[in-house]
Amino acid sequence: MSNGSFSIPPPRNEPILSHAPGTPERAALLARLAELARAPIEIPLVIGGREVRTGRLGEIRCPHRHGQVLARFHQAGPAEVQLAAEAAVAARREWSTLPPSERASVLLKAADLLAGPWRATLNAATILGQSKSVQQAEIDSACETIDFWRWNPHFMARLLADQPISPPGVWNRTECRPLEGFVLAVSPFNFTSIAANLPTAPALMGNAVLWKPASTAVLSGWHLLQLLTAAGLPPGVINFLPGPGAAVGDAALASPHLGGLHFTGSTGVFNGMWRTVAANLERYGRYPRLVGETGGKDFVFVHPSADLEAAAAALVRGAFEYQGQKCSAASRAYVPRSLWPRLEERLAALVGALTVGEVEDPKVFFGAVIDQAAFKRIQGYLDLARATPGHRVRLGGGADASRGWFIQPTVVVTDDPRSRLMQEEIFGPVLTVWVYEDARLDEAVDLCESTSPYALTGAVFARDRAAVAGLSRRLVDAAGNFYVNDKPTGAVVGQQPFGGARGSGTNDKAGSMANLMRWTSLRTVKETFDPPHQVGYPHQG
Ligand code: NAD
Repeated sequence: MSNGSFSIPPPRNEPILSHAPGTPERAALLARLAELARAPIEIPLVIGGREVRTGRLGEIRCPHRHGQVLARFHQAGPAEVQLAAEAAVAARREWSTLPPSERASVLLKAADLLAGPWRATLNAATILGQSKSVQQAEIDSACETIDFWRWNPHFMARLLADQPISPPGVWNRTECRPLEGFVLAVSPFNFTSIAANLPTAPALMGNAVLWKPASTAVLSGWHLLQLLTAAGLPPGVINFLPGPGAAVGDAALASPHLGGLHFTGSTGVFNGMWRTVAANLERYGRYPRLVGETGGKDFVFVHPSADLEAAAAALVRGAFEYQGQKCSAASRAYVPRSLWPRLEERLAALVGALTVGEVEDPKVFFGAVIDQAAFKRIQGYLDLARATPGHRVRLGGGADASRGWFIQPTVVVTDDPRSRLMQEEIFGPVLTVWVYEDARLDEAVDLCESTSPYALTGAVFARDRAAVAGLSRRLVDAAGNFYVNDKPTGAVVGQQPFGGARGSGTNDKAGSMANLMRWTSLRTVKETFDPPHQVGYPHQG
């Protein structure tokens, strides 16, 4: 309890630094890239603030130069998960009783440190470890992370301020209590900002967390943890547990202390975790909160009235930025026959101009996919496109693993609107296009609505206002984030709360009050100032 009611500083979105030639941020980034690439580091687990070394080492390799080991990290197993669960439960006692303003100030300070002296470190770790281009790292590991840390305290303050009415003689209040036990945060490789948000959103609400980062993103995860520690996060509030997904996940989900799961990753893994929680239900003294943001098969629907150049630019950015490894990446497109020849020509010109290579070079737009497993999975889809009648690889289609895990930006045209390439999440730089007859627009919209099990993002391109309204209405359940004349990627915290439904997750909108609501269990307090002393009522005479 503080002796004041404090206002959180009004949030604003972190400006994107250009890293153009001659800028100080470019010089700082290039220097930090050279430092982090110099020699591999060793990364421990962190449990209750103490570094733990298990000796079971995993490796982090640079995806665009896979001969280079960037770090070796100790991996957790069930014994370390149990230690971390105990450390979290112990840390929660004090952390949950700190005034919310104190907890918020840790994140606000972390945001300022990241906007300043830590920016180059997080960007460099993301570029080297996850093969993001300079721009993609800047919008993710710097700007979006900072935005989560500035906006979530603001959303928390709004939640705390939302109070019930109190009639005369009574004072009603609600309190945002943290969940009992710990929250398990399991993060994917593809966004450093998501890795930052999954443990810190529950922590902000007073919870203690077990955080399992993706094995391919442990390098940026380690620097995030160091940064949070520098910002004053107390020991045990976030316990750092890299390791094999199933070993760490199953042990954490078996703990009687599980209070919630904050997951982002593939649909199959989340489905498995949900089933494990259901099987363990009797062990927990509560119903754990399950939040999962999962896969996508995101569409771009081009109407005959569309601005063709804008649609082409959106398709290229949406499908190929970060090598198509965004849950929101444009991955299936519906294009009218009347526009396709010119649109294809434009796509060929734009894709042909993309610079591919080692992403430390600021000239490069497009790097490697994350690892060998991803390379093989995507290559399997390229083989499928070549081997299946009615499919034509029109752009790209090549793959070269000699130095890094490189897959060319690829456009496939299919005659089958229900092709596996139109339904399944590929999670790589492969855009599949179905060209519809202009006269069969309605059928094309129905196919767009129903072809894939996912419903994460989608975009429509049209200049005809009635068409925009009609598409928006008919595709209402097909995407949790819907874009009109814009690419389906690049949601900004505070502007476009992010998440999808159907097979894409629980849609608890990362970076919003809706998400923070899941990490709190409200307590309602009714206080009566002059309580009745009698039992009877007037109608009894
Ligand atoms: P993934 O599902 O392979 O892994 C995600 C995390 O789960 C990793 O930390 C992994 O180690 C862990 N894991 C794996 N098996 C596990 C198990 N049995 N128990 C517990 N944890 C386990 O996903 P990824 O390859 O890291 O990321 C790509 C996926 O994430 C794509 O499907 C993408 O669409 C999705 N994603 C979704 C969003 C969104 O907001 N909807 C955002 C980013 C990524």
